[in-house]
Amino acid sequence: MDPVRIDVQSERAPYPVVIGAGVLSQAPSFFEREGLDQVPVIVSCPPVWRLHGERLTTLSGGASAALIGDGERAKTLGTVARLYDAFLERHLDRSGIVAAFGGGVVGDVAGFAAATYLRGVRLVQIPTTLLAQVDSAIGGKVGVNLPAGKNLAGAFHAPRLVLCDPELLATLPRREFRSGLYEVVKYGVIASRGLFDRLAGNLSAIFAHNITALVPLVAECCRIKAEIVGRDERESGPRRALNFGHTVGHALEAITKYRRFRHGEAIAYGMIAAARISARRGLMTEDEFEALQDLVRHMGPLPLVTDLRGGDVLDAITHDKKVVDGRLHFVLASGLGSTATVTDVTTVELAEAMAAIGLRV
Ligand code: NAD
Repeated sequence: MDPVRIDVQSERAPYPVVIGAGVLSQAPSFFEREGLDQVPVIVSCPPVWRLHGERLTTLSGGASAALIGDGERAKTLGTVARLYDAFLERHLDRSGIVAAFGGGVVGDVAGFAAATYLRGVRLVQIPTTLLAQVDSAIGGKVGVNLPAGKNLAGAFHAPRLVLCDPELLATLPRREFRSGLYEVVKYGVIASRGLFDRLAGNLSAIFAHNITALVPLVAECCRIKAEIVGRDERESGPRRALNFGHTVGHALEAITKYRRFRHGEAIAYGMIAAARISARRGLMTEDEFEALQDLVRHMGPLPLVTDLRGGDVLDAITHDKKVVDGRLHFVLASGLGSTATVTDVTTVELAEAMAAIGLRV
């Protein structure tokens, strides 16, 4: 199977996303093709480097990676400062390249460091989680959390190349894999009924990491994301569709202090809540709502929410970045395969949606 190449339009210049089983071992030739002519400084985290670092030694010229801590806790300005030191130690200059090799956390932190070090050096994303391959590595959003909240410091810094090798996902813990898969469900709901149906019909092959099922799935998500961010890199319009499920999802993450849910799990609940409102408004049928709910439930267990209060979620929603000029921009599903963004969702509708996902209201 030849790798799939998707070109993403970007303010600075288009960049390719290359998806294929085994593309990691061909990384040097993809770098060369894009004129990325320097040995990159690789940024990774210990679990990923331990499992897969060896496969990148030809790319790194044998140099070891700059490792950051693992997981969301490492997504801080302190980590960025340590990366600046690592870049200086490795004499990274303005013509240098940073390659982020890890999940969304590594991609976001390394990307932010690359965006700001010497006012910006070239960035390559080599995502190793399903979530990063289908979502966070594409689109140029990079950033870190502040004590006051998630992703509050950031930049738009488009990569020069994204290399997605779904073979890397074989070592991903099942819960992490499933968390990324909820984002795949999201792409189906917002942009492709066909993708939604293929996912629903192939769950066991996908969970078995069957590479012939996985590669086209990742590629289709990348195509959808590329198309959307190509039209609206800075999220002034169409890119908001990607926030389907995120209004309630982010609120659930915030009220549980980012400890209970993997990001995708919170989005899974958020998608059911948004679909509940969509169906009540007649934007989608009850059958389509049920199909989404069934798919999410079939994928496996989600953390419990029955102890959480709907009122706390409502409070968190009003503090969300999606409130613009006092109006909440809420992405609803218009059937399975397209969206409608509205600004008039009422607290009564939200309360019913909370009840639908099992919260106390
Ligand atoms: P993550 O980066 O924390 O990775 C999850 C876990 O999987 C980590 O423990 C990691 O070490 C491990 N891991 C990674 N690859 C592995 C592999 N191949 N085998 C075994 N273990 C592996 O989490 P994530 O879900 O990838 O990313 C979440 C982050 O992405 C959040 O901070 C979120 O805000 C961000 N995000 C950014 C964007 C964007 O557009 N920039 C979009 C969505 C999410």
